[in-house]
Amino acid sequence: IGPYTEVDSEVQAALDGELERQRTTIELIASENFASPAVLAAQGSVLTNKYAEGYPGKRYYGGCEQVDKVEVLAIERAKELFGAESVNVQPHSGSQANEAAYSALIEPGDKVLSMDLAHGGHLTHGMKINFSGRMYDFVHYGVGEDGYIDYDEVRETARREKPKLIIAGASAYPRIIEFEKFREVADEVGAYFLTDMAHIAGLVAAGMHPSPVPFCEIVTTTTHKTLRGARGGMILSREPFGKKVNSRVFPGMQGGPLMHAIAGKAVAFGEALRPDFKDYARKIVENSRSLAEGLMEGEINLVSGGTDNHLMLVDLRGTGTNGKQLEHVLDEVGVTCNKNMIPNDPEPPTVTSGVRLGTAAMTTRGMGEDEMREIAEIIVAAVRGETEGLRDRVTALTDAYPLYA
Ligand code: PLP
Repeated sequence: IGPYTEVDSEVQAALDGELERQRTTIELIASENFASPAVLAAQGSVLTNKYAEGYPGKRYYGGCEQVDKVEVLAIERAKELFGAESVNVQPHSGSQANEAAYSALIEPGDKVLSMDLAHGGHLTHGMKINFSGRMYDFVHYGVGEDGYIDYDEVRETARREKPKLIIAGASAYPRIIEFEKFREVADEVGAYFLTDMAHIAGLVAAGMHPSPVPFCEIVTTTTHKTLRGARGGMILSREPFGKKVNSRVFPGMQGGPLMHAIAGKAVAFGEALRPDFKDYARKIVENSRSLAEGLMEGEINLVSGGTDNHLMLVDLRGTGTNGKQLEHVLDEVGVTCNKNMIPNDPEPPTVTSGVRLGTAAMTTRGMGEDEMREIAEIIVAAVRGETEGLRDRVTALTDAYPLYA
């Protein structure tokens, strides 16, 4: 895929090796996906050469006619995809989208209520050494014993703490998020409401998860997870916040936008607007349910007892293994995933009692529910330490569903 340079044999070798790795392993990292060849081509295009500080029609550099077209396409497609009033496609990453978005709504030192990292929240939702935790005064809600967000706790904490901003969204939450409940709480305490839909953006675009857009002042996202686009971030705003968001992104925290990445975003949004993306997103969720059922039939516990979206959290307590060990064993047999804290995890973050599994990438490869059952059996065997023959079973699956063929 793509003309790799012959000039640099060392980088070339690593690129070839990575393509081979992606082709020959089962990719279950919930935040990853396989962008289309068209998206890859856009990202590897001559747009990487162009400086374009500013926004379409208002640039600080000459020669921006073509990149203006690309950025306008990305913005208009994102507006159509999500029903957003204002869109900024320039954030280099999801983290930078959050940094700019927070600063458009609140001031340093202000109080923010978000999901506990240990319960599935993201680093940018208030981790102490992240910019978020250093800059703002974060308090958290979490999930209850049942693994679902405890909306009563959200309300009680908001009433007590009086945050200026409430954040919904997570990196490891397997259930539907009820945005209207967050909105009610935000209205009750006079807070802004922002959703970080990084993980579920593709599902939202396809109507497989309720949209946060009608309920929030601002929605942030990455563009490369379930949305299957170029790696990067994006901010959707309700007016009158769009203008402030734009100035917080540039010149607030970034210089020149990555126009090649924005071209990749535009291409991906075009793909997501096509009817077949709805089928894709539906299959992600069906596959997730099948994988979850297969695991549970193998007597493996899942946080919250299942999944409504593209991911699940395996609870390994009592199995004799932990997140770190299982990640390693699965790696050895060609299944890639990440260790992940489960709520109230007795193990430290470097060990963990869980792994997080997602189906977006393997669904892109064309796998369906039968293959998910087979992957579940492979994981169940790995948990039990019965690894003989597993690498061959992985190879049979990856051979049957070629990547970038
Ligand atoms: N927000 C959430 C909920 C995420 O899961 C992630 C990525 O893992 C991010 C933000 C940050 O995105 P990035 O890695 O592009 O900075």
